[in-house]
Amino acid sequence: TKEDVKSYLFRNAFVLLTVTAVIVEYNPWISLRPYKMSYREVKYFSFPGELLMRMLQMLVLPLIISSLVTGMAALDSKASGKMGMRAVVYYMTTTIIAVVIGIVIVIIIHPGKGTKENMYREGKIVQVTAADAFLDLIRNMFPPNLVEACFKQFKTSYEKRSFKVPIQSNETLLGAVINNVSEAMETLTRIREEMVPVPGSVNGVNALGLVVFSMCFGFVIGNMKEQGQALRDFFDSLNEAIMRLVAVIMWYAPLGILFLIAGKIVEMEDMGVIGGQLAMYTVTVIVGLLIHAVIVLPLLYFLVTRKNPWVFIGGLLQALITALGTSSSSATLPITFKCLEENNGVDKRITRFVLPVGATINMDGTALYEALAAIFIAQVNNFDLNFGQIITISITATAASIGAAGIPQAGLVTMVIVLTSVGLPTDDITLIIAVDWFLDRLRTTTNVLGDSLGAGIVEHLSRHELKSRDVEMGNSVIEE
Ligand code: ASP
Repeated sequence: TKEDVKSYLFRNAFVLLTVTAVIVEYNPWISLRPYKMSYREVKYFSFPGELLMRMLQMLVLPLIISSLVTGMAALDSKASGKMGMRAVVYYMTTTIIAVVIGIVIVIIIHPGKGTKENMYREGKIVQVTAADAFLDLIRNMFPPNLVEACFKQFKTSYEKRSFKVPIQSNETLLGAVINNVSEAMETLTRIREEMVPVPGSVNGVNALGLVVFSMCFGFVIGNMKEQGQALRDFFDSLNEAIMRLVAVIMWYAPLGILFLIAGKIVEMEDMGVIGGQLAMYTVTVIVGLLIHAVIVLPLLYFLVTRKNPWVFIGGLLQALITALGTSSSSATLPITFKCLEENNGVDKRITRFVLPVGATINMDGTALYEALAAIFIAQVNNFDLNFGQIITISITATAASIGAAGIPQAGLVTMVIVLTSVGLPTDDITLIIAVDWFLDRLRTTTNVLGDSLGAGIVEHLSRHELKSRDVEMGNSVIEE
């Protein structure tokens, strides 16, 4: 049909243009790489990509709010409670599995060689405890001011200080990292000394707070009978309008991705610069992420649904490539919605409900990476972690992944929480900055994959509730 042809074209445009970007930039004949571009030239070159990023981010806030409100309102309280439980169990299980994979793999491969002699064994002051990290997470679920929660700002709740962060041209706190290492070091120093970003913030927006509010709000108006009808209709049509905008952006997305990826390749330093330990570390992270994304998650999907996970993943290709190109799971969210609903036919009641929450709190790739990176830094410092400290790392890595925003390199910032919880030197984040932009793309892709397979699994487990709700709604339509 016409729809099939359109979706086929879309999917292939994504893959084709991405492959083109890589081939064009890596071949020796017409590649722009040998020509060292200035920062300004790189910005000009990747401008179409930056535009895509901005368009996607523009839609995230209204998309999260409208989809969650309508998603919650469309379900009766028993069904939404059950589905919510399933989603949470899935998120927790997969995150914990990811953390364990990260820890086991970094202990087995042992990429850190202990080059810094026992410097940090003793006497390190622990600034943030695991309890602090958790309390902060919960604190930010309840923003005292909803309007304020929508603006860029970073606060530390336990230090009672708030800072306005100068926003870089690409609008992310750590955008500087990608472009300018010394600026990034400065940013990290400032973070370490003065502030911890609001856990759950997307682009400075307190997404976690908005997610919690939207869910409660949707739940309430879902139970309000006729009185709630106006609000239900409002959010329904808002959601529909946003999704139409997403459909428009989808046409531009492949081109945007081409320039995002080509721009990054042009800008990137030669990989040869990366030393032995860092190379080993990179390989270790890649192996960990691959085990989780290619073996564990598809296997889990298969065990629960008895359907072919690769067919499902095939339908997600656009979202996965967008995640790779944008390194942001929240910027990818609009595309994830389209893929799941249109390519994989996942019920809208599920996607609206599960995806925004997943993009905000479920980050398997980030959790795996945070635990792995923290232990790598311990290895470099010859810091022997005891069992209790490894448990602390796994708990704080889980909290840090829940708290990390779905923006580029947020995981690097929330690493501070993991490191300080066991008294590791936060300065050493600078050791891994050089490769983080790359690993970020891979863990973002893993994050998006985890959210999407989760939606498939929750849909399968909730099929009876969905069916009975259909019957119920069908009945009431007939009665009307
Ligand atoms: N960039 C990741 C994401 O958007 C978060 C991270 O830095 O790990 O999912």
